[in-house]
Amino acid sequence: MKIICIGRNYAKHIEELENEKPKVPVIFMKPDSSILPKNNPFFIPSFSNDIHYEIEVLVKINKVGKYIDAKFAHKYYDEVGLGIDFTARDLQSDLKEKGLPWEIAKGFDGAAIIGNFVPKEKFENLQDVNFSLEKNNEVVQEGNTNQMLWKIDEIIAYVSQFYTLKKGDIIFTGTPAGVGKVSENDLLVGKIEGEEFLKVRVK
Ligand code: ZN
Repeated sequence: MKIICIGRNYAKHIEELENEKPKVPVIFMKPDSSILPKNNPFFIPSFSNDIHYEIEVLVKINKVGKYIDAKFAHKYYDEVGLGIDFTARDLQSDLKEKGLPWEIAKGFDGAAIIGNFVPKEKFENLQDVNFSLEKNNEVVQEGNTNQMLWKIDEIIAYVSQFYTLKKGDIIFTGTPAGVGKVSENDLLVGKIEGEEFLKVRVK
């Protein structure tokens, strides 16, 4: 399986990182080795002093597709979930500045937290779903999928021009504003509409 991530999909997050608003979706990937096994703690890696959390809504692909038209994209997923796109912001900024690929800043071991999935029918309108991240019982990120610059179906259409989507692939759909640094012993809890979808302890 592969993990495809969308960068800069929420206007306020683009502003907080002082990035430019992209004209097309920004895509990057995480290898399957970046998935943190469920219930394992996340260990801050030795190569970074600035690991950021990014809470994101996830979509799980349910069949093979290529050049998927946006109007048929809904047929290619039936489960949604929540995840954290851990980012070594110091490595990423350094590589970005040099114009180099920043893959390692996003793809290192443990950088993909994948929580529970539920049938998409659970939500009346997938593009109007509230989600949040709490750090030590305090809300640090809040978003609604209606704030996405590119909607889920548009993301699938765009991505599938380049990459054949396969059953089991997961799409991270971008993070809203409020990203920040994790510290040892932090407890991160992700929720959709107030319901817990993921929990991870930082070590
Ligand atoms: Zn992200």
